[in-house]
Amino acid sequence: MKETISPRGSSECRACGSRELVSVLDLGEQPLPAEYGSTPDEVLERFPLHMRICSNCGLGQLGEYVLPERIFHDAYPYLSSASATWVEHARQFASSMADELKLDAHSLVVELASNDGYLLSAFQKLGIPVLGVEPADNVASIAREAGVPTLTEFFGARIAEKIFADRGHPRLIVANNVFAHIPDMHDFMAGMSILADDNTIITIENPSFAVLLQNTLFDTIYHEHYSYLTAHSVRVVAKAHGLELVHVDQLPTHGGSNRYWLSRSKLPDDSVSATLETEKRAGLFDPDEWLAFAARAGAAIEGLRKWFNKRQLEGDVVVGYGAAHKGNTFLNAVGEASKTLVYVVDASSEKQGKFLPGSQVPVLAPEQLASAQPTDVLILPWNIAPELAERIRLLAPNARIWIAQPAMRQL
Ligand SMILES: [Zn+2]
Repeated sequence: MKETISPRGSSECRACGSRELVSVLDLGEQPLPAEYGSTPDEVLERFPLHMRICSNCGLGQLGEYVLPERIFHDAYPYLSSASATWVEHARQFASSMADELKLDAHSLVVELASNDGYLLSAFQKLGIPVLGVEPADNVASIAREAGVPTLTEFFGARIAEKIFADRGHPRLIVANNVFAHIPDMHDFMAGMSILADDNTIITIENPSFAVLLQNTLFDTIYHEHYSYLTAHSVRVVAKAHGLELVHVDQLPTHGGSNRYWLSRSKLPDDSVSATLETEKRAGLFDPDEWLAFAARAGAAIEGLRKWFNKRQLEGDVVVGYGAAHKGNTFLNAVGEASKTLVYVVDASSEKQGKFLPGSQVPVLAPEQLASAQPTDVLILPWNIAPELAERIRLLAPNARIWIAQPAMRQL
């Protein structure tokens, strides 16, 4: 066994501790999705990518997992502010929360995994004090340079005690797209519980696992996502730390996300029972649905493989847009045929000049999209496809534009 892998999750549910974990989708051994090659033939270390479901609490989870210290180190190249869609989402979130919670110059907003500070800066613009916690040192530095106070730490109970001693109870704690990235969910929740008093609202935003299953979004399974969340499993972990799931917002982000509101003092509203019911109806606890999901994922992978082979036979020139994690899971599941891509373009300058992990496809700047005169452009991050399609039409007006999820189709 590799040193950087922990076996714990392969036998015991990390939310409820049950041993009733069922293997649902094994995507084989893949490189880490953020670990780009420096040369086309660089051999990257591969790790298992094997999703299981807890039949007791419905948490989807990777079995053996790569330790966060290995995944979220310095070289982590993802910057949230690189996507215009995300920046707009952040602006709307800040303004609606400021209204809802009546935030002002005396409130404090703490964001966990605050990335380059793009969300907190939206609160700052409204005159609300903020504090970010971000484990990746280079990303935290970018935030600090932009004027967003940021601690370089992995969040948990230990750091929460420190923040509480320095700043007291925040009015709002935001954990967007991070709770699933933490192997020790209980330490993370314990930290939020330490920071929360009766007036604190905690919001946890994450793709819905029920939506992942229903819409076959298997390409959102990657090593950084230790857990796949639902209202059922979030509620289980929250309750263990004196917090209640009191509200759920449904969001269109990442194909379908939930924003879970936790509180120490409020009572659950109707959105909680409605979401729990929807998740049951979506087959969260139904092994037949899990099997059907795995079969559809296999068909999607085969569909992209056949599409690549067809493009090759017809002499087409295929390039990709968006060096996204989900694209890497998909391309690595497809295997050799992914090398049909001449290159992929991406707006993130950290990725340009490198090679996609596993498929080894070169990454260029978006301005170079048309340099090989592509006949076809495949959009890999389907969740921001409309934004990217607009840019592609400007850069390569004659190319056909495709997405591969939930099935291969031309835009
Ligand atoms: Zn469980």
